[in-house]
Amino acid sequence: MLDDDHRCRSGKQCVNRTPEAAAATTKPDTLCSACVDEIQDCRDRLGAATDALKLFIGIKVQGVGVKVSASKTPPAPINIAAHDLITEIDVLMFRVGNLLVRDLIKQPLTKVKYWSAEFEQLRVWDGVDWALQIRHLYRRALALTGFERSWQRRHAPCRDCSLPCLGQMSGSEVVQCSNCGTCMSDVEYQNYCVELVKGK
Ligand SMILES: [Zn+2]
Ligand SMILES: [Zn+2]
Repeated sequence: MLDDDHRCRSGKQCVNRTPEAAAATTKPDTLCSACVDEIQDCRDRLGAATDALKLFIGIKVQGVGVKVSASKTPPAPINIAAHDLITEIDVLMFRVGNLLVRDLIKQPLTKVKYWSAEFEQLRVWDGVDWALQIRHLYRRALALTGFERSWQRRHAPCRDCSLPCLGQMSGSEVVQCSNCGTCMSDVEYQNYCVELVKGK
């Protein structure tokens, strides 16, 4: 059996995950190449996703020319979530800059301070942690705005966290949990539903 050091650090979100575990990696403590490619894709789209988020809450985006007048009603919770997400993306971009994901994951542990919900947090993360953060924040931005593709709910409770948060981006073969991030293929989902019915 392979030790955990040689498993893709994406864990349950690994693109090449088997039903048992994340993909094997040749080097320890890193990501598999499929995840590196997927995260690079997220990185390339993050700017557009952030613009979509800003439009969504009425911040003027340079070059797009949408102006939303100030509203007297207090911001809805979803706007606060979007504001927090934009801050998180700023922190991420500050750290990541223009590094390609394949270079980013070789970066050593660094400390980054940031403000979150009124308190200061210190993150001590390595390059892989930041790469995973790219995927995480990109997906959150997509989920909030419905940008590009739409989320279709799958109705069984999540196999791992038991919450009713499973769904699928339209056109995607992967069923994933918006709460804990677990992934399974469409076929695995069908089999899992059969097991649920049988009361396993
Ligand atoms: Zn992986
Ligand atoms: Zn879950």
